[in-house]
Amino acid sequence: MLEKLRRIVQKVNAAKDLRSALDIIVHRVRETLEAQVCSVYLLDTDINSHVLMASEGLNEEAVGHVSLAVGEGLVGLVAKHAEPINLQDASLHPSYHYLKETGEENFHAFLGVPIIHHRSVLGVLVVQHDEKRRFDEGEEAFLITLSAQLAGVIAHAEATGAIEGISPSGQKTSDTVFPGVSASSGVAIGHAVVLFPLADLNQIPNRPALDTEKEIKYFNNSLNSVRKDMRELHGKLAGRVAEGERQLFDVYLRMLDDDALGNEVVERIKQGDWAQGALAYVAREHVRNFEMMEDEYLSERAVDIKDLCSRVLFYLQEKEVVTTEYSNNTILVSEELTPAMLGEVPKDKLKGLVSIKGSGNSHVAILARTMGIPTIMGAVDLPYNNLDGREIIVDGYKGEVISNPSDQLRKRYLSTIKEQDQMIAGLEELKDLPCITADDHRVNLWVNTGLMSEAMHSLDQGAEGIGLFRTEEPFLLRERFPSEQEQSDIYRRQLKAFAPKVVTMRTLDVGGDKALPYFPIEEANPFLGWRGIRVTLDHPEIFMAQIRAMLRASIGLENLQIMLPMVSNVNEVNSAMRLIKKAHHELILEELEVNFPPIGIMIELPAAVYQTRTLAKLVDFISVGSNDLTQYLLAVDRNNPRVADLYSAFHPAVLNALYHVVSEAQKENKPVSICGEMAGDPGAAVLLMAMGFDILSVNAATLLKVKSVIRSVSLEAAQDLLEQVMQMDDAQTIRSAVDMTLYNAGVDRLLRSSRTN
Ligand code: PEP
Ligand code: MG
Repeated sequence: MLEKLRRIVQKVNAAKDLRSALDIIVHRVRETLEAQVCSVYLLDTDINSHVLMASEGLNEEAVGHVSLAVGEGLVGLVAKHAEPINLQDASLHPSYHYLKETGEENFHAFLGVPIIHHRSVLGVLVVQHDEKRRFDEGEEAFLITLSAQLAGVIAHAEATGAIEGISPSGQKTSDTVFPGVSASSGVAIGHAVVLFPLADLNQIPNRPALDTEKEIKYFNNSLNSVRKDMRELHGKLAGRVAEGERQLFDVYLRMLDDDALGNEVVERIKQGDWAQGALAYVAREHVRNFEMMEDEYLSERAVDIKDLCSRVLFYLQEKEVVTTEYSNNTILVSEELTPAMLGEVPKDKLKGLVSIKGSGNSHVAILARTMGIPTIMGAVDLPYNNLDGREIIVDGYKGEVISNPSDQLRKRYLSTIKEQDQMIAGLEELKDLPCITADDHRVNLWVNTGLMSEAMHSLDQGAEGIGLFRTEEPFLLRERFPSEQEQSDIYRRQLKAFAPKVVTMRTLDVGGDKALPYFPIEEANPFLGWRGIRVTLDHPEIFMAQIRAMLRASIGLENLQIMLPMVSNVNEVNSAMRLIKKAHHELILEELEVNFPPIGIMIELPAAVYQTRTLAKLVDFISVGSNDLTQYLLAVDRNNPRVADLYSAFHPAVLNALYHVVSEAQKENKPVSICGEMAGDPGAAVLLMAMGFDILSVNAATLLKVKSVIRSVSLEAAQDLLEQVMQMDDAQTIRSAVDMTLYNAGVDRLLRSSRTN
């Protein structure tokens, strides 16, 4: 059974659109279960009905024309309860609704299972039989398993149709919402530019050819280059590999010689596709056809086609210099956004960002937030290959991408953008005002930085210090470790720009999702592995060079603090302290007048939370890294979109941990700050202030928003709120209570989390 299941899923996966996917499903399921009917009904929300989308066994003419209103018939019942219904004789069931166009009166046995994707019922898969007998347990289990596996494919095929403006049953549709996670608030309307990694056939977006002749020439040249490579390889391998394996090259050459593949690509280019898109399309078609073949040998040939076409693509991408056109309202879309991609678009043209992978707490999201660009991460259901050039809306408040916006919706969002611009302009006035509450309580508002440009922007926003300088950012931009002198220059620029304001430099925090290209770390569980201080203590030469560089950079400025990331025990702090003292001593021996700076640790692990007081005794200050602390407390990968909705800094366990850290640090009279993204959420900032955090260190882009909210509330109201929320037992309720306080304090709706559009 497992093999049958696997083959059905494989074939459905290879289908080119929703219709063919559904046709394969009904054909294969009917055959496997030896049923007389197999049908798929899909929910079309535009007409609020379950439409018979495919069937083998019912009248063909009914397909696409017959539908059941939501809740109607046995199909409606299966969908409503999201549970299978298995009946010996369907016609005896009170919910049975006879559809005469289908000819189903001949069938008695009925088994319907829901097709569920991300908790919502997409439709119902039904098998029927003329005998009066229940489908057995094995058959029911098979259909449930299959339906669970197919739901994702069906959702993807439906979404692809929606991008084209077509609902599952072929109606015109608009305002299709694709959920994701908000990584940076704000709204943007613009045209999608899809960026893709090189030489990956699955990620080539569809684009029109600008010059058909040129595209054909690029393609033919690339094809010739591959032909040449193949002949050369064939020759080189003579006598070195078995003759059978060498024959593979003959097969390749025949595929290329027998102009079939090439001609097809040229035909598609002539129809208007760009060469890369045409090649990717033809490759997919051939791969699909081969994969569909029953014969094992032939179906394996799909791999050869993929390989061959990837080789052609490689040359094509070298020959065809793709100069991406960025419109004035560019929304950058990619399967996986990278910091480098953000840099490719001229700043004034980049209005929004969408990433299929990643979540709101990944480092690229933090960068996007720093740049203040509305961003959605983890839009896993968005068929981005078909999005290039289309108008989309990024709603960074709700965490949604909307395709095919209707005039009405566009108008609504345009007015939100106007409101947003006015709010931001209003915030500018706060730059030089102190961060004090309505009842005169002073809050220290610092910033997180990594690159020099951020530091300058932060100063411009009225930052009072740097609570976190991520030293790994300059490391990430190089091809080798920067030397001590190079580091010292970078650090001095930061320290100088901010002097006499304090700059907290964190020692190198690589590992997890931050891999240096020249120092790869391959691990099964990178977030639980070799990260942060664990790496630098194992490489004292790297650690010492960095500390020496920091200390040298601070000479005469005296505004440096050093902070250690990912601390999980006292030994790490003691070892790091020894090395820092050693570096200091060395510099003194070199006759440099270096003062010993304050040293602090980050609390990012639950283990450190419970040792706050012990750790606080060893250092001068404590800073909470709530991004990692939330991830480790809730066991939710900060980059994984599937579990992004479980990642909440408002979870009572997180709030309890934070409160505990503050009170323990206070017992040792050590200052305590917070530098995770949570501090930049205006509502959360109010709670953190009430807990007693001495410093909130936030992104430059959110600094004025936080200041504005703190200036609107009183410490007394914040403390009352904290007292209330510490009694609450779930994140959502806490969020609502915080929003209510902000609402009562007259905070702008765009600064609250529960906006009504
Ligand atoms: C944190 O974990 O909260 C933090 C500030 O560090 P990073 O986001 O760089 O891991
Ligand atoms: Mg961290």
